[in-house]
Amino acid sequence: MDPQEEARTSRDPLERSPGVPKSQTPDEEERRGGGTAPAAAVLDAEADGASVDGLWELPVEPAKRRPECSRCSRPQKVCLCPYLPAHPLHISTHLYIIQHPAEENKVLRTVPLLAACLPQDKCKVKIGRRFSEEKDPELSTICRKSDTLILYPGAEAANLEEFILDSPIYPTTVIIIDGTWSQAKDIFYKNSLFRLPKQVQLKTSLSSQYVIRTQPTNRCLSTLECAAVALSILEKNNCIQETLLRPLQALCSFQLQHGAQIRLSKEHLLKNGLYPKPMPKNKRKLRKMELLMNSIKI
Ligand SMILES: [Zn+2]
Repeated sequence: MDPQEEARTSRDPLERSPGVPKSQTPDEEERRGGGTAPAAAVLDAEADGASVDGLWELPVEPAKRRPECSRCSRPQKVCLCPYLPAHPLHISTHLYIIQHPAEENKVLRTVPLLAACLPQDKCKVKIGRRFSEEKDPELSTICRKSDTLILYPGAEAANLEEFILDSPIYPTTVIIIDGTWSQAKDIFYKNSLFRLPKQVQLKTSLSSQYVIRTQPTNRCLSTLECAAVALSILEKNNCIQETLLRPLQALCSFQLQHGAQIRLSKEHLLKNGLYPKPMPKNKRKLRKMELLMNSIKI
């Protein structure tokens, strides 16, 4: 059993002590809400995410959300606004976040934090799984522009940092898909619109700091982290990365102080002999695990 799954199933809702209202602890929140989207924007990140991601799609009992802060979208008691920049960052790049509908209802989301740091007209979130010319003429126009990029890893994807050195047209718009690995893959491959912009990926040494969610490998970044790295490259300003990551670090440190567990990546668990499940019998899955253990890009 996946450690994540184990943690979830072993904590039955009935274990909650009487009188403790639902969703009162971050731990509870995490269990219901899921985590971030491992935005598909880092190279070699097409790991065996499906089995992990599947957990986030399990039906959860509907629960009333606590009142949310209007700026950071966190519950008011754990508002992260003190960690956000006083004013939205000055950037010239436009971000389009294509968000899988399941992501919108997760409690621990990183996109609202990202949006809260950026000017409204520079960060647009579009929710859905299928996009077409007819349904979304605005997005369609964006995808057809020669200065639009889509951040999605793969053999076809150029390294963003190298790409901007050679490109005659400087990119002004970046599309990022926000969803689990399998959701992002579905959105990317099933919408022909997203094949139109130049495909790029990030080669970064940044390890995900979103440690309260299991990622397939240490190099899988959350949507917020992808956006932070991409923007600091495009805007040629490393402070952007620092500023955007501050609320994420605060979120993780708060969750950890309140009982959340650090979730080591599957890659780390495998390499250190800590993987708690028997190796899969399915040959394809076994091959993926072996590649992950040897850190071969898959
Ligand atoms: Zn707030």
